[in-house]
Amino acid sequence: GNTAAESNGDKSPGQFSFSTVKLQEISHLSDYIPNLQSLPNPLEQNPFFHPSDEFYVKSGDVIFRQIVYDLSGTLPSPSPDHLAYHRAGPRREVVFDPKTVRAAIVTCGGLCPGLNTVIRELVVGLWELYGVRQIFGVTAGYRGFYSREPVELNPKLVHSWHKRGGTALETSRGGFDLEKIVDSIQNRGFNQVYIIGGDGTMRGAVKIFNEIRRRKLNIAVTGIPKTVDNDIGIIDKSFGFQTAVEMAQQAISAAHVEAESAVNGIGLVKLMGRSTGHIALHATLSSRDVDCCLIPEMEFYLEGKGGLFEFLEHRLKENGHAVLVVAEGSGQSMIPRTDAQKQERDESGNLVLLNVGGWLKSELNRWWTRDHPGELFTVKYIDPTYMIRAVPANATDNSYCTLLAHSAIHGVMAGYTGFVSGPINGNYAYIPLEEVAQARNVVNTKDHKWAWIRSVTNQPDFERS
Ligand code: ATP
Ligand code: MG
Repeated sequence: GNTAAESNGDKSPGQFSFSTVKLQEISHLSDYIPNLQSLPNPLEQNPFFHPSDEFYVKSGDVIFRQIVYDLSGTLPSPSPDHLAYHRAGPRREVVFDPKTVRAAIVTCGGLCPGLNTVIRELVVGLWELYGVRQIFGVTAGYRGFYSREPVELNPKLVHSWHKRGGTALETSRGGFDLEKIVDSIQNRGFNQVYIIGGDGTMRGAVKIFNEIRRRKLNIAVTGIPKTVDNDIGIIDKSFGFQTAVEMAQQAISAAHVEAESAVNGIGLVKLMGRSTGHIALHATLSSRDVDCCLIPEMEFYLEGKGGLFEFLEHRLKENGHAVLVVAEGSGQSMIPRTDAQKQERDESGNLVLLNVGGWLKSELNRWWTRDHPGELFTVKYIDPTYMIRAVPANATDNSYCTLLAHSAIHGVMAGYTGFVSGPINGNYAYIPLEEVAQARNVVNTKDHKWAWIRSVTNQPDFERS
């Protein structure tokens, strides 16, 4: 079973006992491939690198998800599972002979800073660390598996890719055909599949992994979650997020300059965040130029006491200008939707979001001309989305992407499959793909981080009294 019981029996105050440790098991090729080979890690043969004992991860090493425990003596009842995950990193034994590895790398969904870094490090890591020589890029997303010739990748080709935005492999939405994709993986002889993409991509990767397991193929699948919104759960943060926050601040600065330089100027910035406001929140906290931050996790309203207009009226009187940050998924229930818009979906079936920025801009203008006819007023609306998505990763994200890629390679070489690697409380772990595909990370507007926003902006809480 996967529940290791461990108890010191003593529950006197100040002493904490782990009653249930639940280890989140991940699949291994040996689960369904009989007599899988096991080889010493090829790093042992690397002439320039002599791995020490500490270099390897021991099979019993786990990372705990929860870090704050109440030591006051009373355990919540019934006591929750203490979730643990296998620690990521190189294993002493691997199941793939580098000479027989044929690795495939694919990127799907929208752009995100760091995509090229992940691709580059997968190639360089496989090549330099493990001596793999057959590495392929599947171009144009999932459909590329069955509709395009894969391109052969090597360290020379990819060496400066981390300095470029976008994805050198190209990406797309739609085109997910499970049978065709797995047939093509099988026919082309790929035995390691690295899938980089967002929530939709990860749901697709779960299906690919399940189908490969159903066919009992000796092929390892790993997912590397990509979401600039940072809306994915379990892992500390997603790659590209910090770069996005940094770029978002530049847009906020520009909006601030515009607002300050006008009479009754409002700077309005729409930031990415379809269902979560992490970018808006962190850009607001770090820029300090923002008067009000609106995110999908909160309700807000325009008119009346405690509403946005009353608040802005006050700020304009006080400061002569105001800056408003709004995450793209905010206010969707307030924006009038035509019948056609109620049906409209993108190629992957996501409901198309209405433009909250454009709507707010026109509502602001309507409000001002109604309540202050003849008085000067300007709204400068900035949507930096494509500028933010398209930049190369910053230093933090580049090193993060590198570690992500290397963790994925070590896990795959060791025979793990159907997993995602990522940092949990700063330590890299292997997490079941399915768990990651379902886990969401939303802003909790009840906790101290949101209180921090309120203290920086002093914005209304939009609780109608
Ligand atoms: P983004 O963050 O840009 O939305 P994403 O990975 O969610 O990234 P999508 O366009 O939604 O981007 O999906 C990418 C690919 O995954 C597409 O090829 C799509 O067909 C496929 N896909 C989406 N949802 C599923 C699903 N539930 N099952 C299988 N495949 C899916
Ligand atoms: Mg998506």
